[in-house]
Amino acid sequence: MIGLEIHVQLATKSKMFCRCPTGYDESKPNTATCSICLGLPGSLPVFNKKVLDYAVKLSMALNCTFPKETYFSRKIYFYPDMGKNFQITQNESPLSRNGYIEIDLNGKKKKIRIRRVHMEEDPAKLIHIGKITDAKYTLMDYNRSGMPLCEIVTEPDMESPEEARIFMNKLNSILQHLGIFNPDFCTIKADANVSIEGGERVEVKNISGFKSIEAALKYEIERQNKEMKSSGKIERETRHFETETGTTHTLRKKEAEADYGYIFEPDLPVITLETDYLAKMRDVLPELPDARAKRIHEQYKLDKSVADTIVLDKHLADFFEECAKKIKNYELLANWVLGDLLKCINYNSITINDVSKNGFMELMEFIEKEKISPRQAKEVIKVFVEKGTSPKEIVKKMGGEAITNDKEIEAVVKKVLEKNKKAVDDYERGNENSFNFLFGQVMRETKSRAHPDIVRRVLKKLL
Ligand SMILES: [Zn+2]
Repeated sequence: MIGLEIHVQLATKSKMFCRCPTGYDESKPNTATCSICLGLPGSLPVFNKKVLDYAVKLSMALNCTFPKETYFSRKIYFYPDMGKNFQITQNESPLSRNGYIEIDLNGKKKKIRIRRVHMEEDPAKLIHIGKITDAKYTLMDYNRSGMPLCEIVTEPDMESPEEARIFMNKLNSILQHLGIFNPDFCTIKADANVSIEGGERVEVKNISGFKSIEAALKYEIERQNKEMKSSGKIERETRHFETETGTTHTLRKKEAEADYGYIFEPDLPVITLETDYLAKMRDVLPELPDARAKRIHEQYKLDKSVADTIVLDKHLADFFEECAKKIKNYELLANWVLGDLLKCINYNSITINDVSKNGFMELMEFIEKEKISPRQAKEVIKVFVEKGTSPKEIVKKMGGEAITNDKEIEAVVKKVLEKNKKAVDDYERGNENSFNFLFGQVMRETKSRAHPDIVRRVLKKLL
């Protein structure tokens, strides 16, 4: 059983309770601070309304329900990452509860329940010199202190690391569509509660980013299975995930929630969630992934699974829909976007936003009108994505548009057959591989400009 507690940093301009900027320079520690986010005595927090707007929108997208009133609490603890010795968070009255995210498991729908969503401030960043368990000293950077976070707590509804990955991908898409999370500078972190049959619950802390979740869970489940086999029990504990090694280590044994001694935060007002305010927020909610996937499926007549995949990345979906204004063979367009384009983007470690839409549409027009062969197109897209050169230029450099007339291809095929008498003999003796060899030679001779279907046809005829 896997449950997640996910901390999402909200993309507001200023911090949660002061005017310090959230877009500080990472290389300059302790520069974006003031008396409030340093927690100096006598300083008073002022709640940033944008944080509420964003958290409400997120709660709505997660199908949660709201109470009439919500307020902040102090989570009291002594640790150098929080100068005032308490963190402003929500405990007894979270912003919202009882939602869900629907995920798709190989065509089967499953609801992962959301227990609660609450707002809280991020503590300062501690940089342990060495490993957290044996660091000789620790540096403190208060720039992060007071950054706005939303914590999403799920029920333990996930049953495999893969499910957790699918859930996180869906959540990422929701956050992107809401426009409240900027992956370029916002962080997302998760703590995972993992238990196997017969064992106590183990909490794994410090899982950063979307990609680490699956790896952390895989490791921890394997570790618990081994432990169960050798000692017959799993103790309740908190463990720390180490990104570099992909392993988890004991931090604390048997820790209960009550240790924090929560009390009501008297320096901030109780927030009344007026019906009018909630209605206004619902009105400005953008189209969300589920609705968008349904629309893309219907509007462009694409397979539902293809639509679901496109929508997983908002920017990719935007890119697709922008190109679909001009390229009307939607299936072909989707195939190229999800296939070769994504492959080239990943290979060059860039994002879809780095790719020129006009350039890509130029290439798609070549492909749609069969002005270049599929093989040529595969070469063109590689250069286009890597160098940004216009496809027209690349095609020109590669020797021009596709050869689609039979006569011209026949001439090349004849020349190739003349040069490769042994392969022709082999083919006549029934060796199918020689056909592929001769096909390859023709493609090479035409610098892949020949249309492969015509080459195959002509080659068969002349052989
Ligand atoms: Zn501040």
